[in-house]
Amino acid sequence: MPELPEVEITRLGLEPLINYKISEVVIRNSSLRWPVNKSLQKILIGMKLISLKRRGKYILAEFPNGTLIIHLGMSGNICIASKDREIKKHDHIDIIFGNVEHKILRYNDPRRFGCVLWTDENPLDHKLLKNLGPEPLSSDFDADYLFQKLRKKTVSIKNAIMNGHVVVGVGNIYASEALFHSKIRPQREAYKVTTNEVNNLVTAIKDTIEKAILKGGSSIKNFFDINGKNGYFQNEHQVYGRKDKPCILCKNPIQQITLGQRSSFYCNCCQK
Ligand SMILES: [Zn+2]
Repeated sequence: MPELPEVEITRLGLEPLINYKISEVVIRNSSLRWPVNKSLQKILIGMKLISLKRRGKYILAEFPNGTLIIHLGMSGNICIASKDREIKKHDHIDIIFGNVEHKILRYNDPRRFGCVLWTDENPLDHKLLKNLGPEPLSSDFDADYLFQKLRKKTVSIKNAIMNGHVVVGVGNIYASEALFHSKIRPQREAYKVTTNEVNNLVTAIKDTIEKAILKGGSSIKNFFDINGKNGYFQNEHQVYGRKDKPCILCKNPIQQITLGQRSSFYCNCCQK
């Protein structure tokens, strides 16, 4: 599933479309998580892309008359395709930029849990975005803030940091990795995490996400690869997906458990 770093990399990868005008919109399948506005062609034609922002895992593509709110869901991806590129299964939407040299923003999503929504109001006031927690890399997300948020939570610390009302964009992989780096067991009750540990956890979350963006950024050219392979970096995970493999710190086997219906990986010895 695309997590915040992949979404940020996708956003950066789409930047070459800024200042181009839309010449056509093709909707092959409008039944994404929420139906795609069938008037999108009418709304967008002739409009120039002004900027690309991100809030949590939502990409905000801003036009003079409003904003496209794009989410990749469980399995979505976007590439910039050329005109002669064949259309594959699950290529649900093409937004075609430019009149002469076409650059196609192609939205592909096999499981269709993603969305492409139009709003002519402030996108940050949209119901999907307005209650989101702070961005993990922003200064609003600090140890004091997180400690206050965790104080009354009896859910596991891993589920707490994956809750988008607490902080956005900390998905399953990065939650497991950040908890390993801060030596906290994923299943510990959130309110039992000490101020010192919260401090380490905030640093670990920021570091893990920053590193992932940097790594992905280095392969960003592949994002536009003719085969539609996106530049999602291969993570160098320390615990995630490493069940029974030796811990990089103590050599004990990494454990796997299920928390909130998601797989969690941790070291029984290094994480308390
Ligand atoms: Zn260990």
